[in-house]
Amino acid sequence: MKIAFIGLGNMGGGMAANLVGAGHQVHAFDLSADALARAKDKGCAAFTTVPEAVAGVDAVITMLPNGSIVRSVYIEDVIGRAPAGALLLDCSTIDLATAREVAEHAASAGYRMVDAPVSGGIAAANGGTLTFMVGGSEAAFEQARPVLEPMAKAVIHAGDVGAGQVAKMCNNMLLAIHMIGTCEALALADKAGLDPQKFYEVSSKSTGYCWSLNDYTPAPGIGAASPADNGYAGGFASALMLKDLRLAMAGAQTAAASVPMGEHATRIYEAFVEAGNGGKDFGAIFTTL
Ligand code: NAD
Repeated sequence: MKIAFIGLGNMGGGMAANLVGAGHQVHAFDLSADALARAKDKGCAAFTTVPEAVAGVDAVITMLPNGSIVRSVYIEDVIGRAPAGALLLDCSTIDLATAREVAEHAASAGYRMVDAPVSGGIAAANGGTLTFMVGGSEAAFEQARPVLEPMAKAVIHAGDVGAGQVAKMCNNMLLAIHMIGTCEALALADKAGLDPQKFYEVSSKSTGYCWSLNDYTPAPGIGAASPADNGYAGGFASALMLKDLRLAMAGAQTAAASVPMGEHATRIYEAFVEAGNGGKDFGAIFTTL
């Protein structure tokens, strides 16, 4: 297949390389000359405008920073420029309202479009082991699946247009709440006189078990290996967690849903990031307790 790939940053660069590895012709476009040059080195064909990159392709994939960029790229440069039968796949993490609005524009111009945000970070993007949560019609999903598979360990049909973004925002809101709770419990155990290692041994096999405690323990030297063992470098940056929490709060407003713990988690990550910790792994909340 010929696939246009727009947005070849930390995530998109590795994803596009995996499509090349699967034998696809990848037309790359990014505003950053460096990102474009790296994509070229990995076997993509580099283009200098979006309309040129999407001409004659079977599918267009975007992996962009936010909803307003996604909206402008699709509305100004993809819709009406990509061939009529091309499938449009937005893999960025963006707000629900924009995802639905852009998909409506695409549908009214006759395109099939899916929102297909991912779980998994840069290592999973490079390794082709992302989980895609896909929102769109059954037919669009069946068309999207083989395009996504070379980049994926799992491709899940979440539901109609927007359902991928809903899955992503709910998952990450839950993760933020779990992580803060895990940090609080580890710190409380320590202050109340229980060796945190013992708390880990007990709770990781009791009803307190969760991914944050069992697989990504946020206290240095305890439990599973995680960025905590490396000064909270690498991993999932707190600034990105805050971005996802804000999207979840916007989504909750759109859906008129009550999310008191999500709101509290958002305030905690806001204060942490504003204090200059945006680049630290999100488990570094432990250090504030
Ligand atoms: P990034 O900033 O590294 O990459 C974004 C790329 O988009 C950059 O290369 C930038 O130059 C390019 N870009 C910006 N505006 C553009 C435009 N108008 N046209 C073309 N290119 C443009 O970000 P990333 O970490 O790769 O994240 C991309 C998306 O993936 C985000 O929505 C993010 O929330 C999501 N995501 C990231 C991670 C992660 O761990 N980094 C994990 C899951 C999901």
